[in-house]
Amino acid sequence: MKLKNTFFYTLRENVKDEDSNSGNFLVRSGMIKKTSAGVYMYLPMGLKVFNKIQEIVREEMNDAGAQEVSMPALISEDVYVASGRRANFGSSMFSLKDRFNKPFVLGPTHEELFAMAAQMKIRSYKDMPFNIYQFQTKFRDEPRPRFGLIRVREFVMKDAYTFDTNLDGLNVSYQKMFDAYKKSFDRMKLEYKIVRADTGVMGGLLSEEFQAVTPIGEDTLVLCDSCDYASNIEVSECITKENTEAVELLEKELVETPHARTIEEVTDFLNEPAVKFVKTLIYSIDGKPYAVMVRGDRDVNEVKIQKLMGANEVMLADAETVVTVTGAAVGFAGPVDIKCPVLMDNEVAQMTNFIIGANQTGYHYKNVNLKDFTVFKTADIRNIQEGDICPKCGGRIHFAKGIEVGNTFKLGTKYSDALNLKYLDQTNQLQPVWMGSYGIGIGRCMAAVAEQYCDENGLKWPVSVAPYEVAIVLISGKDEVQTALSEKLYADMKKAGIDVLLDDRDERPGVKFKDMDLIGVPYRLTVGKKAAENMVEFKSRDGQISMDLNADDAVATLLDLINKEKAH
Ligand SMILES: [Zn+2]
Repeated sequence: MKLKNTFFYTLRENVKDEDSNSGNFLVRSGMIKKTSAGVYMYLPMGLKVFNKIQEIVREEMNDAGAQEVSMPALISEDVYVASGRRANFGSSMFSLKDRFNKPFVLGPTHEELFAMAAQMKIRSYKDMPFNIYQFQTKFRDEPRPRFGLIRVREFVMKDAYTFDTNLDGLNVSYQKMFDAYKKSFDRMKLEYKIVRADTGVMGGLLSEEFQAVTPIGEDTLVLCDSCDYASNIEVSECITKENTEAVELLEKELVETPHARTIEEVTDFLNEPAVKFVKTLIYSIDGKPYAVMVRGDRDVNEVKIQKLMGANEVMLADAETVVTVTGAAVGFAGPVDIKCPVLMDNEVAQMTNFIIGANQTGYHYKNVNLKDFTVFKTADIRNIQEGDICPKCGGRIHFAKGIEVGNTFKLGTKYSDALNLKYLDQTNQLQPVWMGSYGIGIGRCMAAVAEQYCDENGLKWPVSVAPYEVAIVLISGKDEVQTALSEKLYADMKKAGIDVLLDDRDERPGVKFKDMDLIGVPYRLTVGKKAAENMVEFKSRDGQISMDLNADDAVATLLDLINKEKAH
C-alpha cells in the first residue's frame, strides 16, 4: 500500500485513558479507537494485524480438521435458560427485548447453539467425531473494562466445539485442538504458559488456559522453581503441613482491642505475628451468610469456595449482614457463637491457641482452639502464596502475571445432558454426546503480542502479525531518482509476495521514521540521497540490523529474512 491519500493517522502524545502499553500504542498508532468503555473500532492498520492473527488461527483450525461455520450474535434467551446458564451469567449478559417483548441476549459464548447445530447431524455413533468452529463477536457486560483490548465488552472470539461418542474420543479431539493452539500461539511469537484452570461457568471435566506472560496480566500464574507445575491461582492446591508439636491447649481469653479492626491493626496492637491470628470474613454465598476462616497472613480463594459449595455467586457480605450475624461492628468477626455456618481452611485446623475476633465490638479472643466453636466444613479454601510448597514436587512456588489468550475445555456430557443431545450406540441405546469447547480471543492475542513486543517508541510486531512486513520510506518525493527507486522497490517487493508499505507522504523524514517505529513495521528501507548510487538504508525495528544495502539485493535479502522468521 502507498500511504499518501489513505486513511492513516498517528497521535503524538500518550493516550490518557489507556492503562496499558498495548492500549496506548494501538490507539496512538491509529490502529484502534475507543467508542465507549471496553468497545473499540478497528481502523485499517489495526484491522490488518487483526486479520493476520485471525488467519493464523483459521489455518491451524482447518489443518486440524475443523470446519468453519457462523452463528448469530442475537440469540433468544430461552436457549440459555434451557441449558441452565442464564442464571450463571447473571448481569454479565447483555439482554434486550424484541418488538413483541420477547427476551433476547447478545451471545457471550455459543455452546448451546453449537449443540443445536450438532443435533441436526447426530443420529448414531457413526456420525461422530467432528469439529466445528467460528469467528464471532461475543458480548459480555464486564463491570471493569480495562487494558485496551484485553478486557472488553465486545470482542471477536474463535470458538470451536468437538463432538465425540465417549471420553476416549473426546481426549483425542481435545489433544488435536491443544496442538493447534500451541502452533497458533507459536506462530504469533507469543511467550505463554499453559496452566490448569477453573472450569467456572463452562463446567466440565478439565480446563486449561494459554496465558501470555506480561507484567499487566489479570491472572496470577502459579509456577514451580523445580518442576513444570503451572496453574491458575484460582485452582492451585495448597499443601497444609500437619502440626505435630505437642502444645498445651489454653482456655480462651477475651482481650480488649479498641479501634483495631484489620489484621495489621490487631497484630500491631497485640504485638503478635499474623500467623498467630485467624481472619474471619463474612461471605454471601448464593445470598446466604457464611463465616470463612483463614490464617491471618492468608487470602480467601473465592473460586474454591464456589466449588466447595456448588454455588453460583460468592461475594463478601455487606456491612449490615456482618453486624447481624456477628452482633458486632465490622472488624471483630469470629467463629465463637456466630449466627451462621463456618467454613474453615485446612491450615486453621492445624493451629492452636490462636487469636480471633470475639463478635463483640472492640474485642478479640486469645488462645482459641477448635473445641471453642463449630465448623460446617473444613477444606482447602485459601490462595497459594509465593514461597509455598509445590503440590506436585514439593519445590518452591513463584508467581507470574498472565493474559488469557486461549482456553480449552473438556466439557464432558454437561451440555448434551442439559440440551438432550444424544446418539444411538452399537447396541441401539441412547447415549449422551461428549463435547469439548475451545476459545481464542483474537483481539486479546493482538493486545498480548503488542504488550510483549513494544518499547518506548511504539510497537515491534513479529513479522507474522505485523501490519506490513517492510516499510519503504521515501525521503523526498520531489527527487525523481529517489521516487523512481522507491517505486521500483515497491513493485518488485509486491511481485515477490512481500507485504510492503510505501511511505510517500509529503512529511518530514523525522515524522515518517517516528510513525514507522510507532506502528511497528519490522523492516524499514530508506530511499534518500544515496539512491543516486542505487543504495538504500536498511534497518530492523528491533535494532539488530542497521546497514546500507545495494537496492538490487533488497528484495532477496528481505525475502530471506521474512521467510526465516515465519518458519520459526
Ligand atoms: Zn514443583
